[in-house]
Amino acid sequence: MNDWRLDASKMVEEQLIPRNVRDMAVLRAMASVPRHLFVPRRYAEDAYIDRPLPIGDRQTISQPYIVARMTELLEARSGMKVLEIGTGSGYQSAILSFMGLQVWSVERIDFLAERARKRLSDLGFAVHVIHGDGRMGFADAAPYDRIIVTAASERVEPLWEEQLALEGRLVVPKDVTTGGQRLLVRRKEDRGCTDTWYDYCRFVPLLGGTVEFF
Ligand code: SAH
Repeated sequence: MNDWRLDASKMVEEQLIPRNVRDMAVLRAMASVPRHLFVPRRYAEDAYIDRPLPIGDRQTISQPYIVARMTELLEARSGMKVLEIGTGSGYQSAILSFMGLQVWSVERIDFLAERARKRLSDLGFAVHVIHGDGRMGFADAAPYDRIIVTAASERVEPLWEEQLALEGRLVVPKDVTTGGQRLLVRRKEDRGCTDTWYDYCRFVPLLGGTVEFF
């Protein structure tokens, strides 16, 4: 992958800008993080195509557009604290970390957490990867300015809302009755929460408990 930077800029120009991702910090991060290092070696050639890809145990690294869209919807600024539920490959964490955010990320499958932790630290991203059940959030580092859930959830867990700072935003692919999911942005305000709905999407499900292979 000599010219991965070319593939990454093509991805930005052909998949993100035409679909109206406009946040420069997001576009810069998507062009700068080596996505091919977050997929299994046999998929490296396909890392920048317009698709999710398998990363083991039926899990996937999300499609580039969805990563960019959710990151843009977070409206995060450098220095903020972010909690991610569903580390997977660690790619979304790397994007957030590249943008200058402080990132905590929870993954339920032990080997995915372990691999993502090593990969992120090898690449110089200071992300805290936690092996645990993300339905509980991660109370130790709360409150968070932003929470991003990268697995399909039936509901917004009360603990996420509790661990979100006032004026905070949470982005989650929430199951909808018509099938699939839709991106939901929930803002936590003085007088309660406000919800806004965005793109339809398809994520792997958020599951309960943890999985140990080691
Ligand atoms: N953000 C990832 C893609 C996530 S795929 C990336 O950038 O690669 C969804 C991930 O959520 C999977 O790895 C799955 O194991 C994890 N997951 C599902 N339920 C979970 C839960 N309750 N807590 C933590 N992680 C969970």
